[in-house]
Amino acid sequence: MPDAEAEADQLEYRELFEAAPDGFLVVDPLGTIVRVNQQTERMFGYARSELLGSAIENLIPERFRAQHPQHVARYVHSPRTRPMGSGLELSGLRRDGTEFPIEISLSPISSARGPMVAAAIRDVSDRKRFEEEARRANAYLLSSVDSIQDAFSLYDEADRIVLVNSAFRQLLGPSMVGVIVGRRFEEVVGSAFDAGLIELRGEPAATVRERWLSYHRAPSGALELETRDGRALRIIDRTTAERGTVSLIIDVTEDRLRADELRSAREQAEAASNAKSEFLASMSHELRTPMNAVLGFAQLLQRDRKQPLSERQQERIAYVLRGGEHLLKLIDEVLDLSRIEAGGITISAEPVVVREVLDEVASTLEALAARTSVQLALAPLPAGLPTVKADRTRLAQILMNFGSNAIKYNRPQGHVTFRVTHEDAFVRLSVIDDGVGIPADKLPRIFEPFQRAGQEIGPIEGTGIGLAISKRLAELMSGRVGFTSQPDRGSTFWVEVPVDRTVSSTTGATTPKLGVEARSWAHGSTRKLIYVEDNPSNIAFMRDLMEELHAVELITAPTAEIGLALIRAHQPAVVIMDINLPGMSGFDAVKQLKSWPETRDIPVIALTAAALARDTSRAGDAGFHRYLTKPVKVDELTAVLEELLG
Ligand code: ADP
Repeated sequence: MPDAEAEADQLEYRELFEAAPDGFLVVDPLGTIVRVNQQTERMFGYARSELLGSAIENLIPERFRAQHPQHVARYVHSPRTRPMGSGLELSGLRRDGTEFPIEISLSPISSARGPMVAAAIRDVSDRKRFEEEARRANAYLLSSVDSIQDAFSLYDEADRIVLVNSAFRQLLGPSMVGVIVGRRFEEVVGSAFDAGLIELRGEPAATVRERWLSYHRAPSGALELETRDGRALRIIDRTTAERGTVSLIIDVTEDRLRADELRSAREQAEAASNAKSEFLASMSHELRTPMNAVLGFAQLLQRDRKQPLSERQQERIAYVLRGGEHLLKLIDEVLDLSRIEAGGITISAEPVVVREVLDEVASTLEALAARTSVQLALAPLPAGLPTVKADRTRLAQILMNFGSNAIKYNRPQGHVTFRVTHEDAFVRLSVIDDGVGIPADKLPRIFEPFQRAGQEIGPIEGTGIGLAISKRLAELMSGRVGFTSQPDRGSTFWVEVPVDRTVSSTTGATTPKLGVEARSWAHGSTRKLIYVEDNPSNIAFMRDLMEELHAVELITAPTAEIGLALIRAHQPAVVIMDINLPGMSGFDAVKQLKSWPETRDIPVIALTAAALARDTSRAGDAGFHRYLTKPVKVDELTAVLEELLG
């Protein structure tokens, strides 16, 4: 080779040597550096002149130096090539005293000056840092997965376990022998069944197993399983972006227990509430019975034509009646409210003709309006007013509440107007008064129970429950209530009920006539009336009442059994029957009467202190002609008797 060419070659090798990304150096058997490249200078921070001729130990941290010459000697004695990454990870020491991780590969070379060792050195600080970061991230991941209380497992695309946490090992580990990672999901499920972990509840194991497997294949929602030892498991699987699956098995035993506890607590509360409702119902019954004597006899005294009361006595008896009626209203309203709140009220929504309800309400309110010189009026009904879907009795009750309030909280010569408007799906019935109005600060709580909006200190009697009941009743009928009011100007209370879509008939634009038809008592031949009742004061009351109605002969029976015999024997025009009787009940007695041809057509009036809605509907079913509650309203009873004895 000509010299020039050899020189060019050498130059090229040198450039390559210098430009290499790794540090290269050559040391002699004594560990003296004989050759370095630029990268070595850069890496260790020395100038080439400082490195050449110096001991290689200078580039090694102090603590490794002592053994190093022996390593070098041993290597020179039996040299072999050691590539990078073969485990020689060491530390380098820079000129400024800092250390950095390096990887070294060694190879023996022979030179003109004898055997040497060539070392390639790579600064692996960056790689180490990345590795450390990756390790830390992995550790975070593992420890967070492990800290999940539920059994976690991750499956790869081939449905093999990649990762599980301790909870998983605890739950399913004992049923699997050997290493868990790498197992197929099917194996996991298989061993769970083989180990008898899963409760089958009478199903074949294959069915339950297949349910689990197919849920895992296409997971949606959650799968519920139980273990043989009574734990409830909720399994939630989801497919990962890498087409693997994560699975979470949650022990929901505690949740179930808590839900059961909640349910039984609710049942207990409901039972307590029902007991309260029953208690109130029977209390109301107990209270109504003596009220019957009080109000019944007071009415008889008031009406006594043989020995008319003096004006003073009339005045006093009027107080007795008013007080008694107030007490009765209170009993009824508290009972009503508590029943609504206990969910014990059933609303029977039926097609209702608005005009009929208004007629009924107006005629009932007329007496009250007349007493306080308030004028009652009804605005003309809009044309084409549809029937509404409501509980007729309850709708009337709401309007009675609004109407009686409008009259009560009014002034002499005041006005109360019923107005009906109709908009799309709802009919609104408004009761408008020009009475005392309600103070602004009382408006927000007006529909709450026992709120009397300042009237508690006034002379007007009330319970503060009427509006609360009205609101709840309206809501039970899918309707609503509302109002506007201005002190000293008046108030408008309204109730909206849904239009009845099932019936197409509408009522014409008519103005109902207000007022009650005059009733005349028909005096005819003596008719028999049998009263089945065990309470002596009630019997005495009825006897007194019948004395007034000369044309009626009263026969009484203390039990239903005796009553039945008497009814068959006497064939009375009317029977009045108590419900709660010793022995056979009034319900059973009327059933008997309806089954006999000779008594089937005799009208039977129930007269009872029981006032639960349930009883009222039972009474109709049982075949009673009318159902009247105690305390007897003398006018009401005489009206019914007039109709029947006519
Ligand atoms: P109360 O038995 O006291 O009448 P309500 O629940 O029916 O009970 O009414 C609650 C309160 O609302 C009444 O005490 C009264 O202060 C007020 N109120 C209701 N309606 C009217 C009205 N039309 N005008 C003035 N105040 C009214």
